[in-house]
Amino acid sequence: MENIIRIAVQKSGRLSDDSLKLIKECGIKFHNGTGKLKSSSTNFPIEFLFLRDDDIPGYVADGIADLGIVGENELVEKDKNVSVLKKLGFSKCRLSLAIPKGEDYPGINYFEGKNIATSYPKILGDYLKKVNINADIHEISGSVEIAPSIGLAEGICDIVSSGSTLMMNGLKEVEEIFQSQAVLISNKDISAEKQATVEKLLFRMGAVQEGKKNKYVLLNAPNDSLEKILSLIPGMRSPTILPLAEEGWSSVHSVISEDQFWENIEELRKAGAQGILVVPIEKMLI
Ligand code: ATP
Ligand code: MG
Repeated sequence: MENIIRIAVQKSGRLSDDSLKLIKECGIKFHNGTGKLKSSSTNFPIEFLFLRDDDIPGYVADGIADLGIVGENELVEKDKNVSVLKKLGFSKCRLSLAIPKGEDYPGINYFEGKNIATSYPKILGDYLKKVNINADIHEISGSVEIAPSIGLAEGICDIVSSGSTLMMNGLKEVEEIFQSQAVLISNKDISAEKQATVEKLLFRMGAVQEGKKNKYVLLNAPNDSLEKILSLIPGMRSPTILPLAEEGWSSVHSVISEDQFWENIEELRKAGAQGILVVPIEKMLI
């Protein structure tokens, strides 16, 4: 029982689907009926707390939860004493300063002496200090982008991903001040028994992440160009080569990062590779 860990994930919002998907991809089964605030797994020593993302850093710092999945924006803003175990690569967004579209923007000095509305007073305050600008930070908890049009502030600092919300509200992005993605955080004082479970979870998450970065590639190659082709898809240890029924041809199997695959595809074809199949990898243990 002492080895059961508790993880806090967002109840509903832009972090929750990908957080739960990652946990499922780690082979961990659980029920999350709508409206449930707590759940446990049937095949891994883990319990889930479903919370608002604002509360996750605090629950983890206090040890109510051992782990949490939260955006770096909330984590830095809440400034709680927790460890970051892993960047998770989803819920990527940025915090930016924006001003009304029609305004000229000469540079960061624009904000000197102005009012800026935001839900991120700490991140914004730290940034303004760094760039030596004195501005008034007006903290509001939501609908920040309407602040300029109702006369509440001259600029805003808010989350941007595509920029369409800014545009709809007659604003333009002028400075990016912080980049964020989802991270796995941990309480700083975890028992050895729980730590062993955390290590198991990290191992599985690592395998899922590696699998996503790489592809399994199969192709047919004339034997006389095998050397060239093997140099283009080097594989984990080295590629597998199997003879085809047709004389003079081989089937080559290898693992390669998706980026590298696209970089080398033209050369592979030039070298005579045919029938190229690219297959997703579910998990990869190196
Ligand atoms: P809660 O009700 O849990 O407090 P919320 O309204 O504060 O939710 P969401 O809009 O669900 O927050 O966003 C959660 C997190 O997802 C943000 O803090 C940020 O890290 C990330 N995020 C926000 N907007 C986007 C986006 N457009 N694309 C990707 N990630 C985003
Ligand atoms: Mg929130």
